[in-house]
Amino acid sequence: MSTYAKSLTSAHKAFLADLFPGDDLILSPEGMAAFSTDASLERAMPWAVVRPDGREQIEELLRWAHAERMPVYARARGTGRVGNAVPVFGGVVVSMLKMDSVLAVDENDFVAVTQPGVITSDLQAACAAKGLYYPPDPASVKISSIGGNVSTCAGGLKAVKYGVTRDWVLGLEAVLPGGRVLQCGGRSHKDVVGLDLVRLFVGANGKLGLLTEIIVKLIPMPETSASVLVGFGDLHSSLAGANAVFQAGVLPAACEFMDKVTLQAVRQGGETIPLADSAEAALLFKVDGTEEGVAAEVRQIVKALEPLKPVSVETGRGDEEEAIWTIRRGISPAAFRIKPNKVAEDISVPRSKVAEAVDSAHEIGRKHGLTVLCFGHLGDGNIHVNIMHDAAISSEVEAAHKAKDEVFRLAVALGGTISGEHGTGLTKASFVSEQLSQEEIDTMVSIKQVFDPHSIMNPGKGW
Ligand SMILES: Cc1cc2nc3c(=O)[nH]c(=O)nc-3n(C[C@H](O)[C@H](O)[C@H](O)COP(=O)(O)OP(=O)(O)OC[C@H]3O[C@@H](n4cnc5c(N)ncnc54)[C@H](O)[C@@H]3O)c2cc1C
Repeated sequence: MSTYAKSLTSAHKAFLADLFPGDDLILSPEGMAAFSTDASLERAMPWAVVRPDGREQIEELLRWAHAERMPVYARARGTGRVGNAVPVFGGVVVSMLKMDSVLAVDENDFVAVTQPGVITSDLQAACAAKGLYYPPDPASVKISSIGGNVSTCAGGLKAVKYGVTRDWVLGLEAVLPGGRVLQCGGRSHKDVVGLDLVRLFVGANGKLGLLTEIIVKLIPMPETSASVLVGFGDLHSSLAGANAVFQAGVLPAACEFMDKVTLQAVRQGGETIPLADSAEAALLFKVDGTEEGVAAEVRQIVKALEPLKPVSVETGRGDEEEAIWTIRRGISPAAFRIKPNKVAEDISVPRSKVAEAVDSAHEIGRKHGLTVLCFGHLGDGNIHVNIMHDAAISSEVEAAHKAKDEVFRLAVALGGTISGEHGTGLTKASFVSEQLSQEEIDTMVSIKQVFDPHSIMNPGKGW
């Protein structure tokens, strides 16, 4: 068990004030409040917030923090949903947002080199300006940073075709506790020399060191895309439909599903949605590539689905494609038409187990007297399970949390994971041992000790 600094002494404050002049050191409670929470709404006050603008400051900071056993919490845009950036042990929050330059977009090497504080959609725009594409697309792409995305291994709608952040990081630079600088990987798209240290940092949630530079792989921008929204009379036909499409040899860029409860909630908004009223489940595909390829894939999808007798099929490109996606974008606000609060989980199971997972999640909801919405990234078995309840009614809160525990156990029992996207952070820390064996956890702890012997990096988050 590590022993940490108990507070920020006057000597600590003097050190930080010297290293971070002016506004780059925040010590006032009002100034620090915004850094005490993230999208999880978990909250804990730090003792200090610093805003480095370069690697040298970070090296000095981590030399000092290592010597002083000072907890260090990296923070980017604070959009994490499980409290990963929340400073539960106090200590120093390091805001990475001043390091926000795209350093290079290289159309010969097909890479981008970036500082971690760049908003991911800004990085994508810089790549697009040169006809290049960085595909990972978490729904938070316009509000989260590339450093946060790498540290959480963010994934999005297009993971089914393009993978998640881990599949795109070629190299990085990290400053480790003690001030050591580790540069690993590089611009080479292939590299099999030694252990893959780059991947250790992807999804490490700032527990190994602070990322100061990231190199990502790029591909040519797809020429065009199209979307197909398909309504089905029941959930099982829709899930069989997705299989039929994959078995027909189509790899869609996105393959989303929505269950009956989700569609009911969206319809209550009264907006026109391009889906038959009789549809009790829906699939939403996106395909991308060349004009001819996209047209052919749309035809293949429609043909593969025919035997499942869809009740409606709507295809769109350009503006029409956008109209089709409004149904998917409307889900989060629509859920609150059912109940004012939700416990939102992001389990992932093998694709063949999605139907069983969705049926069982509804059953768990019924058992606890609560409505459960299931929708999400069917292509990668990643199901958003929203357990709707009223937080003003304590029995509903208790029931929602019991239901959540059962949903986690269900995911693990089906050979899946308690989190496909958001990680475990604070809110799911106690469930990590339900999924990982003690052997796996011990190995992770040993690896962390190599990078961070005093465990000062993001402590208090489960392992
Ligand atoms: C509306 C909404 C939609 C979302 N949709 C998705 C989604 O589709 N897919 C998905 O995967 N997630 C999603 N998220 C979650 C969140 O956006 C991601 O986890 C994102 O990657 C966090 O990025 P951030 O810049 O906000 O990082 P933060 O939340 O500030 O930090 C996240 C973690 O990264 C660490 N970190 C940040 N920067 C560094 C650095 N430079 N060095 C080391 N560690 C660092 C922090 O310590 C923390 O552990 C969503 C969140 C919201 C609010």
